[in-house]
Amino acid sequence: MKALSIKNLKKTYKGGLDALKGIDLDVEEVDFFALLGPNGAGKSTAINIISSLVTKSSGKVEILGIDIDQNHSLAKKELGVVGQEVNFNQFEKVSNIVINQAGYFGLSRKEAKENGEYFLKRLDLWDKRNEVGRNLSGGMKRRVMVAKALVNKPKLLILDEPTAGVDIELRRSLWDFLQEINEQGTSIILTTHYLEEAERLCRNIAIIDEGEIVENTTMVNLLGKLEVESFVLDIDKSLSKGELIEDKYQIKLLNDKQLSVTLEKGQKLNDVFSYLSKNQISVLSMRNETGRLEELFINLLEESK
Ligand code: ADP
Ligand code: MG
Repeated sequence: MKALSIKNLKKTYKGGLDALKGIDLDVEEVDFFALLGPNGAGKSTAINIISSLVTKSSGKVEILGIDIDQNHSLAKKELGVVGQEVNFNQFEKVSNIVINQAGYFGLSRKEAKENGEYFLKRLDLWDKRNEVGRNLSGGMKRRVMVAKALVNKPKLLILDEPTAGVDIELRRSLWDFLQEINEQGTSIILTTHYLEEAERLCRNIAIIDEGEIVENTTMVNLLGKLEVESFVLDIDKSLSKGELIEDKYQIKLLNDKQLSVTLEKGQKLNDVFSYLSKNQISVLSMRNETGRLEELFINLLEESK
């Protein structure tokens, strides 16, 4: 059985924006999965559909084999979601926010209290249990949302940009916590636009861009694609298209006085310079083309052309 299975999911918002253009996604049970993509890619839309906050235009979503349309309340029991926006009553006490949530899933008061206490302690919020939500820092609020999402011990936990606005120390402890509950058997999906976060935590990954899945693979495989490096070179001479053709370095003309070159592992920049010199071209300046995530996107988008 899959923790999550999505088939041909489409969402067109009122006004006509196609936020999801028919995505397919399968996440195995007990996986730690990243949905990575830039702002506006459609990550939150997908998650909000899975958690029934947004209605889909078409397609199918199954949580632990349960169709969310056919058996909504059963599917919901298996799912904990930490959304991108604060989703609790800010005037309520932290302990009540968490414990009352358990009530929606039919847990007894005793069980709710036990689970609430466990997760509040585990997330370093026990000291804050009598505080009202709005008195907490951004990072604490996010952890309250995690405790709230977990209080009924769902089998699948989905977090939408869980570390946005969370300082580095808390980020690390949240990562450790997520890894621990994943090892204990909870399937986890998170969205992020930080490659580093996905890399550190996740075994499998899908990349979404403009409402389409552009890559869906293992983390190891994906990182293998990063063994190329691109540079932008400013040159002293105007070139026109087709003047330089050195396949070895994937030289591309960005504009008449700018080139991009891509080196694979083991190739040397020196060789590129020699090649350019031989063609009477001098390099005036040079910079690394992109960060790693951007680099990935460029590679992926070029592949798909
Ligand atoms: P992400 O979470 O990856 O940043 P979103 O799913 O929030 O992306 O947004 C995907 C696209 O849908 C964006 O272009 C966004 O502006 C648009 N969008 C999101 N929510 C709405 C909405 N309620 N109404 C109209 N457009 C929306
Ligand atoms: Mg989002």
